[in-house]
Amino acid sequence: MFEKVLIANRGEIALRIHRACREMGIHTVAIHSTADADAMHVRLADESVCVGPPASKDSYLNIPAILTAASITGADAIHPGIGFMSENAIFAEMVEEHGFTFIGPTPEHIRIMGDKVTAKQTVKSLGLPTVPGSDGAVATVEEALKNAKEIGYPVLIKAAAGGGGKGMKVARSEADLTEAYQLARGEARAAFGNDEVYMEKYLEKPRHIEVQLLGDMHGNAVHFGERDCSIQRRHQKVIEEAPSPGLNNEEREKIGALAADVIRKIGYRGVGTIEFLYENGKFYFIEMNTRLQIEHTITEMITGIDLVREQIRVASGLPMSYKQKDIVFNGHAIECRINAENPETFTPSPGKIAGYHPPGGLDVRVDSALYDGYKVPSNYDSMIAKLIVHGSNRNECLLRLRRSLEEFVIGGIDTTLPLHRRLIAQPDFINGDYDIHWLEKFLDKK
Ligand code: ADP
Repeated sequence: MFEKVLIANRGEIALRIHRACREMGIHTVAIHSTADADAMHVRLADESVCVGPPASKDSYLNIPAILTAASITGADAIHPGIGFMSENAIFAEMVEEHGFTFIGPTPEHIRIMGDKVTAKQTVKSLGLPTVPGSDGAVATVEEALKNAKEIGYPVLIKAAAGGGGKGMKVARSEADLTEAYQLARGEARAAFGNDEVYMEKYLEKPRHIEVQLLGDMHGNAVHFGERDCSIQRRHQKVIEEAPSPGLNNEEREKIGALAADVIRKIGYRGVGTIEFLYENGKFYFIEMNTRLQIEHTITEMITGIDLVREQIRVASGLPMSYKQKDIVFNGHAIECRINAENPETFTPSPGKIAGYHPPGGLDVRVDSALYDGYKVPSNYDSMIAKLIVHGSNRNECLLRLRRSLEEFVIGGIDTTLPLHRRLIAQPDFINGDYDIHWLEKFLDKK
C-alpha cells in the first residue's frame, strides 16, 4: 500500500480523498494555488505545496509543478480527483513515467473513453446499446445534413472531446442544422482545442441513468447499481438520486451486469461510470467517465462502501474487497449540489462566508471544504457543498432532505440552497416523475 499520496485537486473532493487516505493510514500532500493558501484541504493535509498562481492553467493544471511537488515530498502516488487532470491521458502517462502511481485507469483507457467517437464504437462492439446517430465523426455541413436526414430530426451535434455539456447543439429541422453544426464546432474548438463533432438522435424525454463500476488488476469487475442524474441545468447535474425512481429491479440488474461486463472485457482498472440515457424502457450509452464522480457519494450511502478506498486499493495492485454478491443495496439516497450562485440568475457569487451551519443528524452527510470566514475564490468551479441524505426508503429520504435543507445555513454569499428547497417540494420531483429536460422547463416557467 502507498505511504504518501499527493492529491492533485482542491475543494470538497480533495478533502474526500484526504479522508479516505487518513483512514487507511496514508499520509497526504495537498497542492494549492496562491488563491487557496487558506483552503481547508491545505489545512488538513499532512503537507502542502503551492504549485502556482490562481488561474487553474498555471496551478491545478500545471503538470511540471505537480510532478515536482510529488517528487520533493516523496509521494508514491497521485490522485487526480475530479475535473482538472483526472481525464488527461498525457498526465496519467507522465505520472507513471516519473515513477509515481496514477490513481486511476491506464492512459490507454482514458484515451479510448475520452474520445467519444471511439468510446461509442468500442462499447457498441462489446454489446452496449448506443443512441442512433452518425457513424463516427461528421466532417462537413453536407455530411451533417445527410446524416440528419437518416437519423431524423431533432438531432444533437456533440463534441468528440466533449465534457460538461460543451460543444453540444440541438437542431430541430434542416433550417437549424447549418448554424447548430457550426456553433457546436466553434464551441468545441474553444473548449477542447479539438472541433471534431458527431451526431445523435436528440431524445425528447430520457432519464440520465449511470452505473457505478469498479475493476481491478486481477480480472474482477463489479457494479454498484445506478444513479439517476436527470435533474440537470445546461447538461450539468443539480440533484442526483440512487436508486432511480424510474427503473424496476429487473432493468436495474440487467444494465448493471451489462456495464460491468464491458469493463471486465476491456480489463479496466479503477472506478468508472458508464452513462446512459433511458427512454421507453430502453438504454442508450452516451459516455464513460474514467474517474471518480461528484455523485459517487449517493452510491456509498446505499451500499455502505467507501469507493475512494476501493479506488486506492486497486491502484496499489490489491484485489477489490468485494464480490458482486457482497454488494447489497439499502434504502435510498439523494444529493443536492450547492453552488455559490444566485439561485434565480445563476450568476456566480464568490466572497467571504459569514455564518456557516451545516445540517446533521442520522444519515445526513455534507461534503464541503467551507468554514466560517472562508473566502470562496472566483477562479474555480462554483460548487461549494454537497448535501447527501439517506433514508430507509425514498419517502423517508425526501423528508430528511427537506429538514436538512431547512437547517443548512451558508451566509455572506448567494447560494443555490433556496433553489433546492423549491425543487424538492415540486410534485413531479416528489413523484420521481422527471426527465433530463424537466429542470430547464421548470426554470423557464417563471
Ligand atoms: P458531456 O460529456 O458534455 O457531459 P454527455 O454525452 O455525457 O456529455 O451528455 C451530457 C448530457 O447531455 C446528458 O446527461 C443529457 O442530458 C444530454 N444529452 C446527451 N446526449 C443526448 C441525446 N442524444 N439526446 C438528448 N439529450 C442528450
